Amino acid sequence: MAEGILLILSGPSGVGKGTVCRYLLTIKEALKLSVSTTTRPPRTGEVEGKEYNFTTTSHFKDMIKQDSFLEWAIVHDYYYGTRREKVRELLLTGQDLILEIDVQGAKQIKEKVSDAVSIFLVPPSREILEQRIIGRGTEDSERIRQRLETARREMDAYYLYDYLVINDTVEAAAGLIGSIIDAEKSKVSRGVRPPGWGGEN
Ligand code: 5GP
Repeated sequence: MAEGILLILSGPSGVGKGTVCRYLLTIKEALKLSVSTTTRPPRTGEVEGKEYNFTTTSHFKDMIKQDSFLEWAIVHDYYYGTRREKVRELLLTGQDLILEIDVQGAKQIKEKVSDAVSIFLVPPSREILEQRIIGRGTEDSERIRQRLETARREMDAYYLYDYLVINDTVEAAAGLIGSIIDAEKSKVSRGVRPPGWGGEN
């Protein structure tokens, strides 16, 4: 059986990665979203095991020592990481997996998983992104300032990615990511073979 595709989705804070990802999962039913581990406290409505696995800083550091993470990073003062075992298990069973992670994590994955496909989601304009960050209203002004600064810095990293997708509408952005997945799955270099001609796995 062919291994699943490992997708990375990044983009600046407030670009709408979560919304695009949720919509993408409804149009690509075979795709699974990786649940990261974080030391950030849950926001209202967030459920343990669904959005994240929430943990303490000391437990997270233990997991780093045990080499449990395929990648990890500190974002806005909190630890975030992707567990190595979970990713391996899913990919080996042919499951496609999407990681919604930051630029630092994306770099680490690209070094370790050469055929991972990385996608950078950008806003239609700078003004729209700033409005979204300010308007979200879930954080105090210091955190908003931090997020605006991080977002501006994160935008500069787009050139490290394989694909750039503009989040004009959620449907169009998710549709384009769906097409990228379809195209990647047709790559001969991934082991696709003509059916019925021998050589197919
Ligand atoms: P939030 O706290 O708003 O859910 O996420 C903050 C940032 O952390 C986002 O840019 C998100 O993509 C990133 N992030 C979430 N999970 C992970 C992870 O496992 N690893 C890395 N490197 N970044 C993550």
